[in-house]
Amino acid sequence: MKKHNFSAGPSILPQEVVKKAAEAVINFNDLGLSLIEISHRSKDFVAVMDEACALALELLGLENKGYKAIFLQGGASTQFLMAAYNLLERKAGYLNTGTWSSKALKEAKLFGEVLELASSKDQNFNYIPKNFDIPTNIDYFHCTSNNTIFGTQIHQFPKTSVPVVCDMSSDIFSRQLDFSKFDLIYAGAQKNMGPAGTTLVVIKEEILGKVSRAIPSMLDYKVHIEKESMFNTPPVFAVYTSLLTLKWLKNLGGIAAIEHINEQKATALYEEVDRNPLFIGFANKEDRSKMNVTFNLSEGADKERFDLLWKEAGISGLNGHRSVGGYRASIYNALPLESVEVLVEVMKTFESKS
Ligand SMILES: *Cc1c(COP(=O)(O)O)cnc(C)c1O
Repeated sequence: MKKHNFSAGPSILPQEVVKKAAEAVINFNDLGLSLIEISHRSKDFVAVMDEACALALELLGLENKGYKAIFLQGGASTQFLMAAYNLLERKAGYLNTGTWSSKALKEAKLFGEVLELASSKDQNFNYIPKNFDIPTNIDYFHCTSNNTIFGTQIHQFPKTSVPVVCDMSSDIFSRQLDFSKFDLIYAGAQKNMGPAGTTLVVIKEEILGKVSRAIPSMLDYKVHIEKESMFNTPPVFAVYTSLLTLKWLKNLGGIAAIEHINEQKATALYEEVDRNPLFIGFANKEDRSKMNVTFNLSEGADKERFDLLWKEAGISGLNGHRSVGGYRASIYNALPLESVEVLVEVMKTFESKS
C-alpha cells in the first residue's frame, strides 16, 4: 500500500533521491565501491562536496555575494552555540517563537548578554510577535523562520541594520525570500534536504572574526570555510543525499517552482481544517506555517475513529508534538500534493460518517 509520510523530521525525501542514494551505497559513480567506504578526499567525493556547496548558494541566489556554504555536523542544535561562539561579543537579541528558539537563546547566554526581544510563550507559541524593537547596538539578531513544533512561520521578517542569524531548519529551500537579508543561515538537513547527520550553514564571510575569544577549531566557522567542509571527515552519506535533493529541486525549477506547489498543499489543507467543524487550527491564521500544519480535534470528536481512518489510508507521522497535542501534518518540499489530497479526503470522510 502506498504510504503518505507526514513525519516532522527526519522526513520524506523525493523517491528518486532515496533510490539514487541507495544505489550509491552499493556502487558509487560506477567505481565498484560504496560511497560510504571511500576516502572523503577522493576526487569523486570532493566533487560532491563542491557541487553541494555551490548548488546551495545558487538555489538561494547567493552566488558572488560574499557568502560561503559549508556542511557541518552536530545538527542545528550545535549551531545554537556555534553562532553565539563566533558572533556574540557583548549582546545579542533573540526572538522567541518556540522550543527551538528557546534552546538557541539558552545556549547563547553562555557567551554574553542575551535580550529576549519578544516572545509568544504567553500563548503557547501559537503566533509570531510583531512590532518589537531591535536595538542597533547588538551583535546580531536571531530568529527561527519556521516553528516546526507549533506550526507558525515568519512571513514578514523584521527590518534591522544588525546582522541577522536565522534557523531555517524546517523551511529552507521551500519559499522565495531575499536571502541576502540574512548573514548567517543554518538548517539541519533532515527536514527539507536530506538524512540527519549534516547541517547546512550559509555565512556572509564579513561578519566573522569580530569576537575576541579563542574559538576551538571544530566550532570555528572560519576553519570550516577555509577547509571547505573537510577540516575533519564529513558525513559523506548525508552530504551526498543532500546534493541529490538539491539537484532534484533545481531540475524542478528551483525554489520558485517548489514554492508554488507548497502553496497549493498548504491552501488545500488549511481550507479543510477551517471548513470542517471537527477540526480546529492551532496557529494564528496570519502566522500559519506552510511546512507544518498543526490542528486539533473539536470537542467531542472521536479521536480513535479519526486515528483509525488516517492509518487505514496509509498516512503516517501525523501525531502532533507532545507540547501541542493533536495533529501535525508536515508538508515539506518532497511531500506530493497527492498525499495532502488523501489526508483531506480522510478528514471529509471522518466528518460525513460522524
Ligand atoms: C529540528 C529542528 C532543530 C533541531 O535540529 P537537530 O538537527 O536535531 O539539532 C532546530 N531548529 C528547528 C527549527 C528544527 O526544526
